[in-house]
Amino acid sequence: MSPCLPRLCGPLALLCLLAPAAGAQGPSSSSNAADCAWIGDGAPSVVADIAARLAAYAPTEITASVAHLPPAEAAALRKLVEAARIMDELFWAQACPCREEIEARVQAIAGPGGEAARSYFAINFGPWDRRFERQPFVGDWPHPRGAGFYPRDLTDAEKELIQADARLSALQTVVRRDEQGGLRAIPYGEFWREPLSRCAELLREAAALTGSESLRRFLVARADALLSDDTLESDMLWMDLDSPIEITIGPYETYEDDLFGYKAAFEAFVTVVDPVESERLARYKGELPWLEAQLPIAEVHKNPHRGGESPIRVVDEVYSAGDTKAGIQTIAFNLPNDERVREAKGSKKVLLRNVMNAKFEQILRPIGAELVAVDQRARLDAEAFFLHTLFHEMGHGLGPGRLMLDGRETEVRLELKDTYSTIEEAKADLLGSWTVWQLQGKGYFPAEHLDRQAVTYLAGLFRSVRFGIAEAHGQANAIQFNWLREQGAVLLEPETGRYRVDMDRFPGAIEELLRRVLVLQAEGDCAAARELIAKYATMPAELFAALQRLAGIAVDIQPVFKDAGA
Ligand SMILES: [Zn+2]
Repeated sequence: MSPCLPRLCGPLALLCLLAPAAGAQGPSSSSNAADCAWIGDGAPSVVADIAARLAAYAPTEITASVAHLPPAEAAALRKLVEAARIMDELFWAQACPCREEIEARVQAIAGPGGEAARSYFAINFGPWDRRFERQPFVGDWPHPRGAGFYPRDLTDAEKELIQADARLSALQTVVRRDEQGGLRAIPYGEFWREPLSRCAELLREAAALTGSESLRRFLVARADALLSDDTLESDMLWMDLDSPIEITIGPYETYEDDLFGYKAAFEAFVTVVDPVESERLARYKGELPWLEAQLPIAEVHKNPHRGGESPIRVVDEVYSAGDTKAGIQTIAFNLPNDERVREAKGSKKVLLRNVMNAKFEQILRPIGAELVAVDQRARLDAEAFFLHTLFHEMGHGLGPGRLMLDGRETEVRLELKDTYSTIEEAKADLLGSWTVWQLQGKGYFPAEHLDRQAVTYLAGLFRSVRFGIAEAHGQANAIQFNWLREQGAVLLEPETGRYRVDMDRFPGAIEELLRRVLVLQAEGDCAAARELIAKYATMPAELFAALQRLAGIAVDIQPVFKDAGA
């Protein structure tokens, strides 16, 4: 089964990483036994279906093309992987208060359930199942909604105080009790001074090794930012990276703070840029203004100034750490979140090509094998999956954005309100398909690619609705599926329960739904958006039955990084 991860095989070896810096507040509340009394000391139970839960994450080797790197860059890359590993440790402290105490208990569980629980503990960065609303899968400790960011025992009055106080609610402070029992905010750079200093040192060492000026400048600025908690300059420099190695490292997303969503969690992506892919991407991006002009809507609704506002990078992941590695693996991300950087430079989309390929093989291909008509199955294609994701991301930059309605300046987002995310995701998905047809017409792809694209897209719809239709991505995919069924562009084979694409009807059906979505965006028509969602974002019995057939297929990969060294 799943390999025993090094940190679980030797947990004691890691305790030193979180030792408090001299004079600073202890970095991990877990070193204080009194704070962790809630862990208790009985033998923790393990959920009965632990083996099935673990099997949902297929261990998968992630390899990157690093052979072309000159020796100095390869040496810099090794330093960056080391730096990223520190993000793992810091995220453990953020996600799992009293980690050492809990881990010691999990270590003591005997039998096969114990082994599975330990592997699953590593995947989830704690005893709480990220797939199932953070219910414990081992032990009976309820998940502290404030994770390791706040004391566990906040009163309602203290919660209000945190919301009202700029330092307590800041992105990069930890909230702890002071000696009088009140609350105080400690900046990350102070609270985690020792591990962050080591991380900063590794970034500086990598900076000294690399021949890339943009990477060198970013690393030096980022090293400073880790300790000062002032990320602005380094986020700006991150936007300008133009280097064979790209790294994203530090505190970014706030989802781990389930209490308020204020606190940033540590993570890292260490990646290498594929020069061939970057060249190809530049050509696609050059087509954005042309694609905008081809959109199936009236000229007045087109937005000639929109294309190309955000850079896109295609990279191979060498190592990922922290927040992004917990639970479901990221295949594309969009950073930074700092609005000041977004105003000045936009944001950057990074597509992790090798992770995408791994998910295709472990998830999409088996889904297709189960649900796509036998004679169309050979058309499932990793390249088509990648291109759809790429054109989806580019598609967010096409179509209506800022609007003028009755002489009033507004935005699609403001007009569509709570329907915006579902409609915007549907638009981007449809563009992910439509763009392939447009560019094929310009000679970018052979005609056979259209078949591969349509069939792979169909399998992708099942992949996305598999987790329900409660949120934007699931809804957007249900809309597309139900629309294509209604239009006869996707057909059910009653005798096998499998689906096939009708290649004659498919492109027209995609374009018509795209037209509808673009028009309601251009008109800021929230009522029409609601109507579309109510009619099509549904789970008909036929789709539900199809999804039942996917029960044995992995939900995600568990990455095993082959180029990150030991
Ligand atoms: Zn999207």
